[in-house]
Amino acid sequence: MEQKIKQLAHELGFDACGYAVAQPVDAIARERYRQWLVQGRHGCMSWAERYCDVRDNPQLLLEGARTVIMLAMNYYPRQKQPRQAPQFAYYAYGRDYHEVMRERMHRLAQFIQAETGCDTRCCVDTAPLRERYWAQRAGLGFIGLNNQLILPGKGSYFFLGAVITTLELRPDEPCVLSCGECRACIEACPAHALAYDQPVDARRCLSCLTIEYRGELSQWVREAMGNRVYGCDECQRCCPHNSQAVPTAVADFEPSHEFLSLTDADIRHMTSAQFKRLFGHSAVQRTRLQGLQRNLPSSGGERE
Ligand code: SF4
Ligand code: SF4
Repeated sequence: MEQKIKQLAHELGFDACGYAVAQPVDAIARERYRQWLVQGRHGCMSWAERYCDVRDNPQLLLEGARTVIMLAMNYYPRQKQPRQAPQFAYYAYGRDYHEVMRERMHRLAQFIQAETGCDTRCCVDTAPLRERYWAQRAGLGFIGLNNQLILPGKGSYFFLGAVITTLELRPDEPCVLSCGECRACIEACPAHALAYDQPVDARRCLSCLTIEYRGELSQWVREAMGNRVYGCDECQRCCPHNSQAVPTAVADFEPSHEFLSLTDADIRHMTSAQFKRLFGHSAVQRTRLQGLQRNLPSSGGERE
């Protein structure tokens, strides 16, 4: 089954698949997360405070869970926005990954159920699960100082998903690589949200502030944002592991021509109907039209 599941994952378009024993997360990871909350570094993401018991133990997500199957899918786009355009993070270029991944993960889960009779639960950012921790445990890669999962030789432009199952599978070796001496992302972060061996400070991270935060943006945030209107890729762009990133093979993740030609003025004058047509099946929905318009530069004229 170990081989069959990996083979099917590959056929379904996943770029990596690995297995970890479903058990409580280790004490270091638990304490690191707790400190992140205690220090308030999760910022406006109050959901991070909930279900900590479940986040610490995937067995609480599925009764009798034995294995966490971790999956990764490349989203690095072939075509990019012009640099002067209002910038979106690469992961938001195409169709919502929750939809794309869920469909394929369910097919994998159905296969496991049909072959073994075991239970499964698919999690694609839909349950309190530490995806990057489990991906490291399952041998997919290591967590870099930019807080992203880095797949050796492939980089970090990958979505992660998990299938938790009651099926026992031989676990893969955890990945033991690290960033070594590199500190490029800490230096490159325009908002100083990264520090050595610390989880990201979401109160400063532009990804959080442009997507999750609902209030008015302060002046320092606007200055750090530049022309970003949804998310930020700076700590991935500068990472040497992404210098050889290969474009995704998933057509759903490629941007439309309309998206690539978006200007500030298009967003400023966008109607709800236009937003729904362009972003109705996109991660950009999360910030809503008002959020996207808030993120446009408030002064200095429009970039066409
Ligand atoms: S996403 Fe941007 S703001 Fe957030 S840590 Fe990375 S570089 Fe800094
Ligand atoms: S830029 Fe360097 S320090 Fe940051 S995640 Fe990549 S390898 Fe690690």
